[in-house]
Amino acid sequence: MKRTQNFLNSLSNHELAFLYRYKYLSYLPNSRKLIDHEITQRNLSVFILENIVNSYESNVPYSNHQCFRCGSLKLQIIQENKKYTSRLEGLDAYISNKNPKVDRIECLVCGHVLQDDNHETDWWGWLKKRFIKKSKY
Ligand SMILES: [Zn+2]
Repeated sequence: MKRTQNFLNSLSNHELAFLYRYKYLSYLPNSRKLIDHEITQRNLSVFILENIVNSYESNVPYSNHQCFRCGSLKLQIIQENKKYTSRLEGLDAYISNKNPKVDRIECLVCGHVLQDDNHETDWWGWLKKRFIKKSKY
């Protein structure tokens, strides 16, 4: 809980608005209470937060180091096992007993996925899931 509270304390009002819009429902009830408390403590309301989000989305700045959706710099880079490997990569993984890794960059504030090398969140990943067999390695 303290970790969640520390994260909430680090957010600007702008970031809190995006967190509320896009990730609120993904949190467990206790964390939602913390978010609600943070909103009231800052003298904000759902109406104000929605206004912040709506007024920002029309002029989103572009930068490689910030979220495309909310503009936050709080990005998380997660190393995942590569899900669809070539035969050579699969053989190398089998011999070395190490799975090839790929990056997934996700916004901690709004949950937007900026980069997904496994293509789990885009249409290419959707096609692969349905028509290409997943490699064991
Ligand atoms: Zn974001």
